[in-house]
Amino acid sequence: MNLTVPRDVKTTCCYCGVGCGVIATTDGAQVLAVRGDPDHPANFGRLCSKGSALHTSASPLLRQQVRALVPELRRARGGPRAEASWDDTLDFVAQRIAATIAEHGPDSVAFYISGQLLTEDYYVFNKLAKGLIGTNNVDTNSRLCMSSAVAGYKQTLGADAPPNCYEDIDEAEVIFIVGSNTAFAHPILYRRLEDARKRNPALKVVVADPRRTDTARDADLFLPILPGTDVALFNGMLHLALWEGLTDGAFIAGHTDGFNELKDLVRDYTPRFVAEVCGIAEADLVMAARWFGQSKASLSLYCQGLNQSTHGTAKNAALINLHLATGQIGKPGAGPFSLTGQPNAMGGREVGGMANLLSAHRDLANPAHRAEVAALWGVESVPAKPGKTAVEMFDALASGEIKIIWIACTNPAQSMPDQKLIRMALEKAELVIVQEAYTSTATVPYADVLLPATTWAEKEGTVTNSERRITRLHPVLPKPGLTRHDWEIATNFAARLAPLLGKPAAPFTYAGTEQIWNEHRESTRGRDLDITGLSFKILDERGPQQWPFPEGAAVGRKRLYEDGVFPTANGRARFVVTPYLPVAEPVDARFPLHLTTGRLRDQWHGMSRSGTVAQAFAHAAEPSVVMARADMDRRMLRDGELVHVTSRRGSQILAAQAGEDMRAGQAFIAMHWGQEYLSGRGASHGVNVLTMPAFDPSSKQPELKHAAVKILKAELP
Ligand code: SF4
Repeated sequence: MNLTVPRDVKTTCCYCGVGCGVIATTDGAQVLAVRGDPDHPANFGRLCSKGSALHTSASPLLRQQVRALVPELRRARGGPRAEASWDDTLDFVAQRIAATIAEHGPDSVAFYISGQLLTEDYYVFNKLAKGLIGTNNVDTNSRLCMSSAVAGYKQTLGADAPPNCYEDIDEAEVIFIVGSNTAFAHPILYRRLEDARKRNPALKVVVADPRRTDTARDADLFLPILPGTDVALFNGMLHLALWEGLTDGAFIAGHTDGFNELKDLVRDYTPRFVAEVCGIAEADLVMAARWFGQSKASLSLYCQGLNQSTHGTAKNAALINLHLATGQIGKPGAGPFSLTGQPNAMGGREVGGMANLLSAHRDLANPAHRAEVAALWGVESVPAKPGKTAVEMFDALASGEIKIIWIACTNPAQSMPDQKLIRMALEKAELVIVQEAYTSTATVPYADVLLPATTWAEKEGTVTNSERRITRLHPVLPKPGLTRHDWEIATNFAARLAPLLGKPAAPFTYAGTEQIWNEHRESTRGRDLDITGLSFKILDERGPQQWPFPEGAAVGRKRLYEDGVFPTANGRARFVVTPYLPVAEPVDARFPLHLTTGRLRDQWHGMSRSGTVAQAFAHAAEPSVVMARADMDRRMLRDGELVHVTSRRGSQILAAQAGEDMRAGQAFIAMHWGQEYLSGRGASHGVNVLTMPAFDPSSKQPELKHAAVKILKAELP
């Protein structure tokens, strides 16, 4: 590689699900600069504050300081973890896993992976767990992020397929943003929305959120709903649409089932009742329903505010009900558009990289689907028993049912709810394997085995963004130290484990990502996400493409369901009866404040990458708990004073700040801060020491958006 002549390499931003195209300039040793790819349809040359600082997070100095570069191994609990060769490390892991399977069965092993992985990484991990080890205990941090959206789409539209494209933002007459601070979490999409407003002053933006976020401040109509009341809001809007004749009778009759049962339910969601439940003005509710129902094209953008809830699936389904009933789907500028949080949550969903899914949107519970996948993978069978989802997985680790956990590219010792239990589970595990690019995460100290992995700028493969668009990533830099790609680590391990289990290693032997992707492509043949017309060559020559892209297609499909045919057994979408239910942990006299969590503008997840970028702290330099001024005054608190924030699960000390975005009775803590930033204050582990592990019965997604807390002034020594 020439180290002196700078060259440009096309890749993508590794932060959020917008999936912006990036051109990285490199001299072969470092990334000299990044700029937005003007040809990428996700961003047309733009980058946000996170994306435009990507090169600094990959500086040679940081690659030395914060990267895991050599395998490390602790052969016995209590002993030190020491550097080891890849051969020794993978042999050790293979022997321990084979012995544990022999003694306790395949379900004693679990994999907890990540929406940060590339599609090819995801594919081989899923195949390794389900096809070689014989356990469905493979779940992902996308469970904390998108699983309610998956369940919501499947229950109503028949498949986990976001029907929209980013162009719909340009075409909409009304944009309904709910449970999403798009301005912070999906900044480049928000820029697109701002442009659309400039072009079309008649475009109306309605935002429903418990906090008056930056997104809410810009709205034409802001509905400051009480936490967890989204289903009541959507049912109330549907009630009004029925009352005012704004439903689309022809669409309902021609393309859907189950409307009469839903009508019976929403009859009770009168404007007065809904306004009271949601804590909003009745007139605002009426206005939102009219705007949504009367417009030629209403587009909903939504994210974790709906998903991270014990009723996350119902929230998603209730919103989709509203779209179906008003015919706001399958046409330009209309539809329920779930925004993905992580850069490749979509790719993980496509390959079925979760405990209840199989490749190409197949279902684990379907015997025919299991047989199809086993045949595609070249393995004997895929087990029928459902695997443990994220919260269940760590519960099973804590109880001793799971003995070994392999964690790849994610940081459960910060991101999972109820940290006390998670950390106890990691301590109790017989073997913790952590496959990571960074040594700084809160999970790494629990690792008995540390497998150093490549990360942004080093990897090669594909990702899929929120609008179903697949982009090729090309390596910008060589692998540092002894790091290996995530898919390589998984397949190198499989080659060692297979003979110990008496199984062939051949199905896990790949020459590279293209071969893995081609196998994934074949699994999609005839499915709703069919990509058999695509290839790495086409992606390189013609740029990123949306799925489906079946054989013979010239382009991918921009928008789904324009023909009114849905991927259900009879081709009709299904209304779901969605009664409103309150949050799992209501506030009371002991814990009187609603705590919610969310993102800061310039940080990402647990800060393993963004925490190395100095300018990312210009927006928020320190962690804090934000409250309404009235709640600060009631506690005689000044800005910056330290408080104990306590839930039924734990406590932490933080600086209190008054925020004009907060309603009385609510508190907000950003999700990013972990132990490094809280140490020295008698607190640790970040906000998830407070959050609760209760989860949605369908999606198994935990309620990270709400916990009941009390806040008391900290006594200074
Ligand atoms: Fe990266 Fe998302 Fe910002 Fe685009 S919007 S540059 S994908 S963080």
